Formats: sequence, structure tokens, C-alpha cells
Amino acid sequence: MHCPFCGEHETKVVDSRLVAEGQQIRRRRECISCHERFTTFEVAELLMPKVVKNDGTRQPFDEDKLRAGIQRALEKTPCQC
Ligand SMILES: [Zn+2]
Repeated sequence: MHCPFCGEHETKVVDSRLVAEGQQIRRRRECISCHERFTTFEVAELLMPKVVKNDGTRQPFDEDKLRAGIQRALEKTPCQC
């Protein structure tokens, strides 16, 4: 992926490790242009995403929160009948 700091197209992976019981790969990347380092996560799209907290812990989706959000969206949708 492009460097988020300078937009350089070439970045190199300096470290990669399995995380989340092997369901994700965390890659440490370094820009070949500005040498800034950043981290990317790689995860299979078919997995139910988990909410990753800032401290790195994961929580499953809060189903009630999700349902409440969908309910709110439906209430704002005009009736189609
Ligand atoms: Zn850069």
C-alpha cells in the first residue's frame, strides 16, 4: 500500500506476524522514500470482523448495538408501500 505519510507507492515489509490466533497478519512497513514506519493488518474478508480496541484487544460485535443502529436507520427510511 502507499505510504500514508508521503504517498510513496513502494513500501517494504520489515516484520510480519500472526495475531488474533492466526486470523490476522500484522505487518510492520517502512516507506522506502521517507522511511516512516507504519503498521497494517491483513484479515480475511469473510470473517466476521471484530472490534479492535486501541490497546489491541478484540471484542465481538455488539449485536444489540448493531440492531439498534439498523432500527434507527429503518425508522428514517420513508415508507415504500
Ligand atoms: Zn513515505
